[in-house]
Amino acid sequence: MRLRCCILKGVALTLPRSLTIAKLMRYTTQFLLSALAADQFPPLDAPEIAFLGRSNVGKSSLLSTLTGEKAARVSQTPGRTRAINFFALLDQSQRRKLVFADLPGYGYAKISKSISAGWPEFIEPYLAIRSTLKLCVCLVDSNVPAQESDRQLIDWLRAAGRDFAVVATKIDRLSGNERTRNLLALKKGLELDEVLPVSAKTGYGVKELWARIEAAGGAGADSR
Ligand code: GDP
Repeated sequence: MRLRCCILKGVALTLPRSLTIAKLMRYTTQFLLSALAADQFPPLDAPEIAFLGRSNVGKSSLLSTLTGEKAARVSQTPGRTRAINFFALLDQSQRRKLVFADLPGYGYAKISKSISAGWPEFIEPYLAIRSTLKLCVCLVDSNVPAQESDRQLIDWLRAAGRDFAVVATKIDRLSGNERTRNLLALKKGLELDEVLPVSAKTGYGVKELWARIEAAGGAGADSR
């Protein structure tokens, strides 16, 4: 397939919506379960990547673009918005290579003292002790200044020693100058060396994010 060859050679392309990065990466996505308590978490059998962000940051959209499927819609169905929704990413032999954990959006209730204030109480233990959790992808909106709740989450992850990547969503909404300015402001406001700009709409930055996810997932995530 020509487009796939181009991607693998590192040529930047805007992908048609039907031809998704996940398919290029040869993963299929399978909804596993919605957990509302720690004893409902899936078995510890694959490297896990958690996705976190304030409500409306673009998490569902980015997950759909990353996985190439509308799996993330599951997380938005009534009764599941307060749950951790787990998705398995399967290789061509149906082996589970990665698990994505879609955490409930925060931000309506201000995060304070405990990062999980306003979150169900099993969220903080999940982030603290889940042994297969390899990377927390923290989404912030590139159009919005750094928020206290994002800063608190990032500080908490730092203190917990969790590997994390901060992703600035909806970058397509900004012009070149605004992009540079906003990304710099986010880095400064959140005390970060790096923020990865992405757009679920155009696919911008998604390849780079996948590279970060696969690096964190280790050999178990090797799909090539
Ligand atoms: P969630 O609440 O974090 O899951 O956010 P959604 O994925 O539902 O997105 C919230 C709103 O932002 C929706 O109106 C999306 O269409 C919009 N949105 C999400 N990602 C992007 C993006 O990359 N670019 C643009 N322009 N809009 C986006």
